[in-house]
Amino acid sequence: MIYTDTRDKNVKADFRTAVLNGMNAATGGLYIPVEFPKLDASFTNRTPEPSFREIAYEMAKPYVQGEIPDADLESIIQDAYPFMPQVVPIDPVTYVLELFHGPTCAFKDFGARFMARVMSYFNRGENDNLHILVATSGDTGSAVGSAFHNVPGIDVTILYPDGKISPLQEKQLSTFDGNVRALKVKGTFDDCQKLVKTAFTDNELRSKFRLSSANSINISRLLPQSFYYMYASLVVRNRIPHDSKIESPAIIAVVPSGNFGNLTSGLIAYEAGAPITGFVAATNANHTIPDWIASGEYKARESVATLSNAMDVGAPSNYERIAAMYSLEQVRTLFASYWTDDTGTVDAVKSCNEKTGYIIDPHGAVAWKAWNDIRCGDMEKLMGGLKGDITQPGLTPNIPAWAESIAKKQAVGIVLETAHPAKFGATVTKAIGREPSIPARLEKVMHLADRAIPMEKDYESFKEWLVSNL
Ligand SMILES: *Cc1c(COP(=O)(O)O)cnc(C)c1O
Repeated sequence: MIYTDTRDKNVKADFRTAVLNGMNAATGGLYIPVEFPKLDASFTNRTPEPSFREIAYEMAKPYVQGEIPDADLESIIQDAYPFMPQVVPIDPVTYVLELFHGPTCAFKDFGARFMARVMSYFNRGENDNLHILVATSGDTGSAVGSAFHNVPGIDVTILYPDGKISPLQEKQLSTFDGNVRALKVKGTFDDCQKLVKTAFTDNELRSKFRLSSANSINISRLLPQSFYYMYASLVVRNRIPHDSKIESPAIIAVVPSGNFGNLTSGLIAYEAGAPITGFVAATNANHTIPDWIASGEYKARESVATLSNAMDVGAPSNYERIAAMYSLEQVRTLFASYWTDDTGTVDAVKSCNEKTGYIIDPHGAVAWKAWNDIRCGDMEKLMGGLKGDITQPGLTPNIPAWAESIAKKQAVGIVLETAHPAKFGATVTKAIGREPSIPARLEKVMHLADRAIPMEKDYESFKEWLVSNL
């Protein structure tokens, strides 16, 4: 596969270059495949549907062709995914796609674990280790640390702001041994990010060490997230005749979004032929993308803090990829968009639990609320001529091509649940009056020894540490 650049269509790179560079430093653009291959219908139409790992293999194959042989791709996938996504019906027209069954209990495990193994694969012939530097304000660091832990040829240094992440998040970052270590920086997340960025532009340091980043714009984190959209939509399509009496309904993927990597992965699956009719872009008070869809104007802004904090992104990087794949008109045909505030989020955790018995986390709750409101009348109101107001929470004024299927009650929703509710126990407890149960793998880290290394926020101290410890 050839990869190009969202800012310069003349750029041509192979998969290895796109993965190891992360972004194109020359243009500031993001790598994107020149085409989005379709899976063979004889594969997607199989009943029962193919397994998650078979789907992962078939979906990944064209994107790594010529660079990773089939047998190696197979073992990358086997090693990356000892866990699976789960499709859980919570009412006759709503499925929750649980993406938290990986080691850190968040959907980022799917992307980070594939990326880690692909990077290790591309580094296999080198004498020197590849050093990954990553700044985190919480969840990314644990997914990346866990994904690279004990992966050969790679060292990881995670920087996080001391005292500014939750105790559980800190435990998830700071208890690794071996090739993954954490620095607790006396400063803010921005200070951490500045240290990493300065290191990347420090030629003296770069001449000593092979440095790389592992951030969410890496194409090798997006591709594997498309696997679970394909898997879930095939599972749902095959289940519908048993769960509801709707004849070939529209399948709508409802995605709680921040940086819009997850939703972009959904588009890759859509292009590959997943039986998905449309998408809902659901955000918290950081509603840059819903505003763009409604008004046609893209305006990046400062992020605001919310209860679904992994979605607090005011300038979503993957806007560039979405805008490179589709025109605004195509986006408006395919997407509904929706946002809610913190009050709405807590209400959603509560009412999802009251209506269905399901305990959803504050991120998934944003998506569940979007789906619930859309199917319970809000889409019909828009179709009936209600103007809608993008400054107010709720469905933004845009009517996608699939709106009719909502009005006719011929649609089912797949609500993506991106984190385990126990990771956001305080908010969930506030909403439903009891604590969600904690999975063993989360409980366990609470008892491990903290190995974080204290670090000043000035670059010289950080560099000195790198030079004596890498
Ligand atoms: C990162 C994250 C999101 C947002 O995903 P994007 O790909 O940035 O849109 C949503 N929920 C959780 C729990 C996350 O960790």
